Amino acid sequence: MAEILEELSEVIKGCSRCGFCMVECPAYGATKIEWDVARGRIRLANELLNGNMAFDGELDDPVDTCLMCRSCYDNCSSKIDTPKAVQLIRTLRYKSGKMKLPYRMVFERVLPNKGLMSLGTRLMSSAQGIGLDKLMNSKIIVRLFPEAEAIADVVPKLPKKRARKVLPHIIKPDGPAKGKVIYFLGCAVDFAYPDVAQATVQLLAAQGIEVHVPEVSCCGLPAYTYGHVKAAQDMAKLNLEKLKIDEFDAVISDCSTCASFLKEYTDFIKDENIKEQAHVLAEKVYDVSEYLAKIELQGPRKVLNKTVTYHQSCHLGRYLGKTKEIENILDKLPGITFIKADNQNECCGGAGSYCITQQKRSQKILDKKVEGISKTKADYLITSCPACMLQLNSGLKKSETNTQVLHLTELLKEIYLSDMKK
Ligand code: SF4
Ligand code: SF4
Repeated sequence: MAEILEELSEVIKGCSRCGFCMVECPAYGATKIEWDVARGRIRLANELLNGNMAFDGELDDPVDTCLMCRSCYDNCSSKIDTPKAVQLIRTLRYKSGKMKLPYRMVFERVLPNKGLMSLGTRLMSSAQGIGLDKLMNSKIIVRLFPEAEAIADVVPKLPKKRARKVLPHIIKPDGPAKGKVIYFLGCAVDFAYPDVAQATVQLLAAQGIEVHVPEVSCCGLPAYTYGHVKAAQDMAKLNLEKLKIDEFDAVISDCSTCASFLKEYTDFIKDENIKEQAHVLAEKVYDVSEYLAKIELQGPRKVLNKTVTYHQSCHLGRYLGKTKEIENILDKLPGITFIKADNQNECCGGAGSYCITQQKRSQKILDKKVEGISKTKADYLITSCPACMLQLNSGLKKSETNTQVLHLTELLKEIYLSDMKK
């Protein structure tokens, strides 16, 4: 505990209370509550450090309502890393034994166990098949389980088969391989968007890359973000053992959140036996957009006369710092007209489970986001994060616009593999 308190004190040191962080904080924008903005959260962290506050529920809202989007960090001249401070406070809460049991169960039992996640997804898919999911909106269920409504809102029609069941373990290009990579299959793509996984591996293979798809665990980010560092370390260890990174040129993810967090393993892995591997992994991880920009896509097969707009995920833009790659790719696509939304880089309010646990705030943030997208009247909204896809889909389906959400690789598959076997 002392070590974490010391780190927290270092992280928040230097806040001048200038308030520049208020400008783009989506949580503060939705509520105008002082403790929703970085300055307010830092003040509460100081109160905690001074022993004037404890984990008796009073701190829960300020700690749980941060989206970890990092907009405040971008606007802060003192470079105070508020999401890091929030993560440390959540870690202190976990260590004080105040983490709610359902969260512990998810981080310790469900996320490391793809079999269990698969069972849950199959049950949900079957329930959707016979219309049982509609019951989640019924008054009685919502009274017993308030998050049910938000879950019903955001969970899309789930596929019968997860990506892992349809992807081969190795996908070879037709000619000699120009590179050999690992495809890191994240949970959201695996269980909700197998078409995205197919598009990614087929696109890479069509560009001459040999793709290997090992069994992996959840990247560990949800557990880490909520302060259960031990569960995140366990998942990271499982992944480092399974990936055999030394045999590959790169590790590619089509989930910007996974890509960003795989790079962060170096920060929290203490075990010296695997720390070196974490550093090797950090060097080799790419978000798929970054990798495609690097290898320079060759040989489009179709002119797709469509208008597209783009949502920059917080993990791609603010954590990985890749702010131009996707725009540059879109600008060069034959037939595609790119229309930039005014609020392209703003958080969509999804933030993992935030759209479920903080439904009202999340909805307000999403409404604003959808307004900006609607103004573009684009045929497609392109993004690189499956969690953002879930959130944006749920917002757009309730709006007047016909804009359809696509992952970057789905759009590229249309253009680069259109007359090939899909
Ligand atoms: S967090 Fe940064 S931007 Fe916000 S009040 Fe403190 S110094 Fe100013
Ligand atoms: S990370 Fe995002 S939601 Fe959290 S305080 Fe900073 S700007 Fe606000």
